Amino acid sequence: MRERVLVLGPPGAGKGTQCKLLAVARGLLHLSTGDLLRAEVAAETTLGQQVKAVLDRGDLVSDHLVLAIVRNRLALHRKGWLLDGFPRNSTQAATLDDLLADLGQPLQVALQLQVPQEELVARLLGRGRSDDSEAVVRKRLQIYVQQTEPINAHYQARGLLKCVDGLGSVQEVATRIANSLDECQRGEGTIC
Ligand code: ADP
Repeated sequence: MRERVLVLGPPGAGKGTQCKLLAVARGLLHLSTGDLLRAEVAAETTLGQQVKAVLDRGDLVSDHLVLAIVRNRLALHRKGWLLDGFPRNSTQAATLDDLLADLGQPLQVALQLQVPQEELVARLLGRGRSDDSEAVVRKRLQIYVQQTEPINAHYQARGLLKCVDGLGSVQEVATRIANSLDECQRGEGTIC
């Protein structure tokens, strides 16, 4: 089965953690735009230097750049995939619709991982990445609420949004996600 899944949710919700497990368990490509951008920074390319300045401020990288990365990866890929960290705003969501239509790879489900704000801050400050200072964490959460959360409605309107409780152990959340995807494969209704 070629599953095509978006994993949505605020920074710190556990998208990266869960996608890594899911990709192995279900034989899917895990496409994390954050990881791809950080790889560009690590490679110290000119593009990477520009990306680093944006990430260090806690801002979003341009829609054009992120879309180019996603298009290249999906166009080469013939199995199912998990998109992690994309789309981040309504422009990216609309462009992704067009891109997937173009590639003949329609989305099957958008999983929304739900975690309360206080837990997100605690998790992100515990993660210790260079772009995870408290001020930057709060800015990223604010940008999420302003720009990214509204796209849930975009997927809900298409009957594609499925909410999953992201609180609990990594294994508990993984089991909930697996159950949700199995429900989708059986064609059971989306719930949010
Ligand atoms: P995201 O990709 O959504 O930003 P990550 O997967 O990077 O989130 O997780 C953010 C932080 O929270 C990491 O430090 C990770 O170890 C931790 N984390 C992930 N899932 C859980 C969980 N179920 N319970 C507690 N901490 C978690």
